[in-house]
Amino acid sequence: MAIKRTSKSLGTPVRRAVTSPGLRHVEVSVPHQMVPGNPYVGWLCKNKSCGLVIAVAPAPAESKPASAGPDDQLAALKCPHCGNEDLYRWGARSEHKYTGGSAGA
Ligand SMILES: [Zn+2]
Repeated sequence: MAIKRTSKSLGTPVRRAVTSPGLRHVEVSVPHQMVPGNPYVGWLCKNKSCGLVIAVAPAPAESKPASAGPDDQLAALKCPHCGNEDLYRWGARSEHKYTGGSAGA
C-alpha cells in the first residue's frame, strides 16, 4: 500500500461558472433538503404562482472573506421548486419560512 504516485495537482477549487460577469453565483438548497415549516435564509420566488423560499445552500467555504461580495450584487437564481430563473439582490435575502410541499390546498 505504499505506492507513491505523484499526485497531480488536484484541480482548481475555484471554478468560476461564467455566464455573465458581475453576477454572483449562489448555490441554492434543493427542495428535499428543506423541511416545511422551517425558516431558511434566502429569497421568495418571484414567480407569483410559486412564491416559495429559494434557500441559500450552506456554503462550506464561507470563511473566505473574498466570497462575501457587495450586498447590491445580483445573483441569478433558479427556483428549485418551479424552475423559474430570475435575478435576486444578494443583500435582499432574509429569513423565510418554507411553506412548500402540500401546505395549503
Ligand atoms: Zn419558484
